[in-house]
Order: sequence, then structure tokens, then C-alpha cells
Amino acid sequence: MSQQDQQHAGSTGIYLSPMAQRRADFDQACGPLFAQLHLADSVDAAAGLLAAAPAGLLVVDLERFEPSIDLDALAGLLARRGEGPVLLLCPYAYARWLPLLNRARPAAYAITPIEPARLRTTVRQCLDTPGGAVPAADAATLRALLALRARVQAALEAPDDAPGLDERLCQALLAWPGVLHAAMFRMRPDGNLQLEAELGRDSAAGLRLGVLLQRSERLLQAPLRHAFPGLLAAATGEPALLDTLDQAGEPALARDLRAHGVAQALGLPVPADGPGAPRGALSLLLDSPAALAPEAWSTLGDCAAMAALGLRLADMNLEAEQLLARLTYVSTTDALTGVANRRHGEELLEREVKRARRYRAPLALLSFDIDRFKAINDTYGHPVGDVALRTVADCVRALLRSSDVLVRSGGEEFHVIAPHTSAIDGLKMAEKIRHGVEQAAIPGCDHVTVSIGVAQLAEQENADSLVRRVEAAMARAKRAGRNCVELAMQ
Ligand code: GH3
Ligand code: MG
Ligand code: MG
Repeated sequence: MSQQDQQHAGSTGIYLSPMAQRRADFDQACGPLFAQLHLADSVDAAAGLLAAAPAGLLVVDLERFEPSIDLDALAGLLARRGEGPVLLLCPYAYARWLPLLNRARPAAYAITPIEPARLRTTVRQCLDTPGGAVPAADAATLRALLALRARVQAALEAPDDAPGLDERLCQALLAWPGVLHAAMFRMRPDGNLQLEAELGRDSAAGLRLGVLLQRSERLLQAPLRHAFPGLLAAATGEPALLDTLDQAGEPALARDLRAHGVAQALGLPVPADGPGAPRGALSLLLDSPAALAPEAWSTLGDCAAMAALGLRLADMNLEAEQLLARLTYVSTTDALTGVANRRHGEELLEREVKRARRYRAPLALLSFDIDRFKAINDTYGHPVGDVALRTVADCVRALLRSSDVLVRSGGEEFHVIAPHTSAIDGLKMAEKIRHGVEQAAIPGCDHVTVSIGVAQLAEQENADSLVRRVEAAMARAKRAGRNCVELAMQ
């Protein structure tokens, strides 16, 4: 026994773990530090021991305890402990215990698995320090935590800018003293966990998680998913903390992180709205191995909750945008042919008429109708007629300029709104369309032809009058024998 250990030999201790092997291991590693060490296998047993004689140090090994079952009992035990020192041994993948139990009373903690020598050092510190070596939040730490909360809040202020949000969150987290690298993982709707953003500073400026984890997407299938706290948190929904980096049994990962000056790695789940897989996770890599103060845990939990809210708003905005785009498409598009529908065509024509009059630019309107289309339906059936309509629409669309608009104005009748187009150019365009349709192969039936009317907007003329004139011209083309072009009269 060292001289230091002899100083503690007057202390008594209680070690609580439901696991016999862990009790034996602790007894072996730390027993000599205590005058008397009691080993308890249940919360009740520990409470009984505490009631019988106040212990110098209560050590609670949280392995095998379960928050949903044991939280109240453990919180009660800690509360009953009053001022006496408590050391929590918390599994690295289950760091949720720390904020939960901090609410009952702040306690010192160490992350497990933990090497016996380090465990002894930690226990000694708890015995040496009045209050039990609870990580202290000094004024500067509290100020930094308030600033962190404010920065995360500010990062969420433009939630409609979804891609920027992840980066803004990383930026906010990176400004917290001690954070060398911040990253955001997000779960896609198909269950694909992706690295959305990462930022490093100082020694971690060059750290790339995509390289470290060997991939940037499908991260739940990554080999290091059980070991890297950010991934672990996204997979389990539990905060995960490596305070010595070796705990997860991945020496190469620990070495790579250390090479960038990282001493601790923390993963915080970004919770979903309800039960089920989290929305993602925040990853923080810290430059100091010091334990996080209870206030830090609660602030970080708040930051993750705020991030969840921000992501939810961003998702909702995105959904609303997609819905609006879909609604606009459906309400303006003809379902069969994909060209503008009649109502949208009327709006577009009104707009182009106004524009043409304001800028004194020519505007042409073409109207074409498939010849003897009833016969196509009667001979080959309605479905083949539908294919013919789609084929004609596709064929004409391919012949138009990007500024021209094709409109299905009726059953087998279409309009073409052609800005900056005179009657002469409109006639040329009509001839191109007539020829193109005549040549087009229609799956399932013969070729079809179209009769076309062409009109140029007259000075002072409105859209209704232009439509009347062009349709009269088209009717003349029908009378002239079909598969031909007629220019509208003024
Ligand atoms: P014309 O050369 O004089 O234009 O002769 P037509 O047979 O084309 O003229 P009519 O107006 O008599 O017939 C139009 C046909 O177009 C009748 C209608 O069933 C058909 N039609 C209209 N809309 C659709 C559609 O969406 N799908 C199919 N398959 N046929 C349609
Ligand atoms: Mg017809
Ligand atoms: Mg017709």
C-alpha cells in the first residue's frame, strides 16, 4: 500500500453493482484504498448499508442498470446520500445516466471500461476532494455555456435553409472552449445515416470523419459504428462518451483521434419527434480529458433538443415546398401529355399579350388539331388514341424554342404561344410542326396529321380575340382538306 493509500485507509466505501465479477474486480483494484469496503448487489442493499453507517464514498457502477427501470431508485439513493461523495461509473455507450442522475444531485463520474490504475486514481481523487471531485463549473465555464446556448439558438434562426443549418450548428458548437471538432450526422428517410457537416479547428482542422470512419454515408453500417460516439448516439439514441478514447476497444480510432489532439469524444443523439430512431446525432471532439460539469451536460442536452427542433422545422419547410411545387405542377399541367393545361395556358397567354403590347414585340399564337382523330380511337381503341396524343405533344415540344409554350387547349387540340414571333415566322414554325407530326411514328397505329391556324397579335387586340381568330384559321385549314396551315385574317 502506498503512503497516499494509507491516508485513505480511514475511509469506508460502498460499491454498488449487480454484477458479481465487477464487485470482485473493484474489491481487488480499490479495496486497499478503504478501511472498509462494502459491496452491494442492489440499490436496496446499498441503501441499507448507507442507513447503517455513513460511508466515505459511494461508488455506483451503472453497467447493467437500466434508466427506464432503475432511474428512480438510483436517483433516490443519490438524493439520500446528501453531501457525501458519489462516484458514478458510467458505460461509454450509455452516458444518458449522467444528465439524468445529475438532476438528483451532481456526482463525480468516470466512463467505463476503465483500467484499474485509472480507477484507483479516480477513487483517490474522490476521497481527497471535499464534495467528492464533482466537476466544477466556474464562472467562465458558465458564461461559455450560456454563449453556446445562444449561438445554437442563433444557428436555428434561418431554418428554411436546410443545408446551411448543419454547418451553422457545427460552427456554434465549435466555438465552445475545448471543442476541437464538431460534426452533424443526419438520418435520411430511407434509414441512411449521413455525415452532413463537420468543422475542425487548430490540431483538428484537417480531421475528416469521412476518412476516419471510412465513409460519409450508410454510416449505421460502418465498421466503427459501435465505437465512434457520434455514430453510437445516432444508432442507439443514447449519449455516448469516450473519456480516454480507448474504451470502445478500437486502438486505431483512439490513435487517429489522439493524433489530432483529441482527448474525449462525445456523441449526442438529436431526438426524433416521438419514439423511434433518432433524427441524427451531434459529434463533439474535445481537447481535454476533464470530466464535464453537470451544467455542461444539461446545456449540451438542450443544444441537441434545439437541433432537433431546427431539423424538424427545416424538414417541415422542405415538405411544404415540395407539396407546393407538386400542387403547382398538378394544377398547371395536363395529366395525359405533361404540357400546360388549358387554364394555365390562358394565364400565360394573357401575360404574353400584356408583355407584347408593353414592349411592342410581335407575338404569334398557333392552334392545331389532330385530323380525324375520332377514327383513330374508333379503329385502334382509346388507349392507342392516348398514346397518339402524347406522341404528338412530345414531337411538337421537341420542335419548339424554350420560350414557346405548348398548351393542351381541348381534347385533341393544342395551342402554341410563341413570344417574339411574327406571322411569317409563325407560319414557318407551323409548317415545321405540320411536317414533324406527319413524320412521327405513333406506337400502335398509323401516322397522324394536324391542321394548323396561325395568328399574330394585332395592335390593341386582346387574348380572346386572338384565340378566336387563330381557331377560325384552324377551322379553315380543316375545310381546306386538313394537314395544312392557314394564316388568320386581321
Ligand atoms: P377533325 O379532323 O375534324 O378534327 O376530326 P376529329 O375526328 O379529330 O374530330 P372530332 O372533334 O369529331 O373528334 C375528336 C376526338 O378526339 C373525339 C374524342 O373522343 C377524341 N378525344 C378527345 N380527347 C381525347 C383523349 O384524351 N384521349 C383520346 N383517346 N381521345 C380523345
Ligand atoms: Mg380533330
Ligand atoms: Mg377537335
